[in-house]
Amino acid sequence: MPGYRGRFAPTPSGPLHFGSLVTALASFLDARHAKGSWLVRIEDIDPPRCPSGADSEILRQLEAFGLHWDEDVCYQSTRYEAYRAALEQLIDHGLAYPCSCSRKDWQEYAVYPGWCRSGVRHPERAFAWRLRSDLGERPIVWQDRLFARQCFDPAGLGDVVLKRRDGLWAYQLAVVVDDGDQHINQIVRGTDLLDNTPWQCQLQRALNLPQPRYLHLPLIATDDGQKLSKQNLAPALPINDKSVRRLLHEALITLDQAPPPFLSDAPVAEQLSAAIAAWDSNRLQPRTYRALPYSIKMNK
Ligand code: GLU
Repeated sequence: MPGYRGRFAPTPSGPLHFGSLVTALASFLDARHAKGSWLVRIEDIDPPRCPSGADSEILRQLEAFGLHWDEDVCYQSTRYEAYRAALEQLIDHGLAYPCSCSRKDWQEYAVYPGWCRSGVRHPERAFAWRLRSDLGERPIVWQDRLFARQCFDPAGLGDVVLKRRDGLWAYQLAVVVDDGDQHINQIVRGTDLLDNTPWQCQLQRALNLPQPRYLHLPLIATDDGQKLSKQNLAPALPINDKSVRRLLHEALITLDQAPPPFLSDAPVAEQLSAAIAAWDSNRLQPRTYRALPYSIKMNK
């Protein structure tokens, strides 16, 4: 039985905010409580979305919060050859096809209707590569550690893009190939990715990779119900020690871990070692988490 291997896989489109802290912390604590390894992977496959320096800022933030990782940080921008080999394997098995349709062509449909499955419609255009979601394993069923039994038919979600028309690799393929190569067997991440999991499971089957266990975490909302995100300008996590201590305590409360109040201002290492020992994923509740006063105040 291989040991626990988990990871945190931020897209360096900007610095981490309180929502990403909660995700990173949960995956870190889950791994460390299980005496497992915890890796960091920078998902920088979309350079136009990744300002330079955002990756090192993220790593500095993780370090300030005491979230020290094992092994070398993996950068997806160094992994194109592995993605190419995986795509080739899918093509060989008839599970990926070139698609020349633009978003505009199928704007009246909720998901891409699969027109290019039987041959590219516009051979003169650049093409993307899509997954034959109708031919992979269906339905996809997994027992989410928080959201219980999940059952999806990936064909209803559409033929997801594996490589974009502009030549960039797409998240779905990259994440599966990297989780596979890094032997990740436990994934703790935000529930915004819950409905991406069926494609990822299909890809794991197609590429002969084991399926990790999944724990999807609720998103964090402010009191007015807005999701905390880079898009709505959630503030960057501070790295000064005083703020870090308070935010770490708030993140533990958010995760229903009931950290003892006397630790609220304690040094990071002390808070973390108590939290690792006390970590209980069964305390997590499948509801929207509320941002707490301090993390909201950072907004103002
Ligand atoms: N890179 C993704 C993000 O920042 C997370 C990927 C994952 O955890 O699977 O939203």
